[in-house]
Amino acid sequence: MMRIGQGVDVHAFAEERPLILGGVRISERGGLAGHSDADAVLHAIVDAILGAAGLGDIGHYFPSDDERWRGASSEVFVHETLRMYGGKIANIDVTIVAQRPKLAPHRQAMKSSVAQLLGIPEERVNVKFTTTDHLGFLGRGEGICAMAVVLLA
Ligand code: MG
Repeated sequence: MMRIGQGVDVHAFAEERPLILGGVRISERGGLAGHSDADAVLHAIVDAILGAAGLGDIGHYFPSDDERWRGASSEVFVHETLRMYGGKIANIDVTIVAQRPKLAPHRQAMKSSVAQLLGIPEERVNVKFTTTDHLGFLGRGEGICAMAVVLLA
């Protein structure tokens, strides 16, 4: 049986925080608001894995009102999710929708980081970037949206 899952996450900018996406520290400012480190990419990946495995969603396991996760690295969520799922990932495709900042220079670092976190070869990880052509809240640069699709092995 093939099992596929999707995850979507949006966070608003919080300029004074570091920007962390896919486990990569992109910049020391211009980050995202959130209870944890607000890594929208890893949150979308966690939801995609949970979805594929039929295990619910990220808010069920890592609620934003739980003091344990205040300022937590979202890598912890990925590790815990993989432990709960207990299987392997076939491949993953990530799309990041952001009008700013320019993320393409960080593509390889994100690929490597996600591959390492998931324990799969880099060629099974794809990271894409797009904008909304200045439309809507993402186009106005109010936040970042991350989407992930995962196929379980
Ligand atoms: Mg989130």
